[in-house]
Amino acid sequence: MHVIAKSGMGNFVSSMRSSLRSLLRSSSTMSEKPGPDDIGIKKLGVTNAKEVKDEDWKKVLDPTTYAVTRKADTEAPFTGAYDKFFEKGRYRCVCCGVELFNSDSKYWAGCGWPAFSNSVDNDLNVKRIVDKSHGMTRTEVRCKNCDAHLGHVFDDGPEDKGGERYCINSVSMVFEQM
Ligand SMILES: [Zn+2]
Repeated sequence: MHVIAKSGMGNFVSSMRSSLRSLLRSSSTMSEKPGPDDIGIKKLGVTNAKEVKDEDWKKVLDPTTYAVTRKADTEAPFTGAYDKFFEKGRYRCVCCGVELFNSDSKYWAGCGWPAFSNSVDNDLNVKRIVDKSHGMTRTEVRCKNCDAHLGHVFDDGPEDKGGERYCINSVSMVFEQM
């Protein structure tokens, strides 16, 4: 009786250990950053992002990424893969792959989303649109090439770097190390 109880406890401990291990494995998978292979048009096997239909974006983008980039939704604050991420590299559009931001202009704004003081080559691949949704007037930023919604730009950025803050959804970008 005593022996059975002991071995039962042993099984319990070992099953706890293995479920803890799989939990750790799944959480490390979740924190993995999307990379250049996750770019929408690469998955679709096309080169011209302007020809991609809405239903095709839906096939290759995960639901949050689709909602943010194609339907101008916003990811929940403090949840994005790049919110507290400061490695050296460039950020490309998750839909079409053009270069949007560089890590040199990334800074911690504490707002819950990745913040940049500038985009690559002063909006080479970023366009600005007046956004009057939610009872506010804001400046929305989108990818110039494929029209993906990226986020908004505000004028409360670092003074010594031009005073702008690009507040960008992590899911709109893929990081590429340099
Ligand atoms: Zn794009």
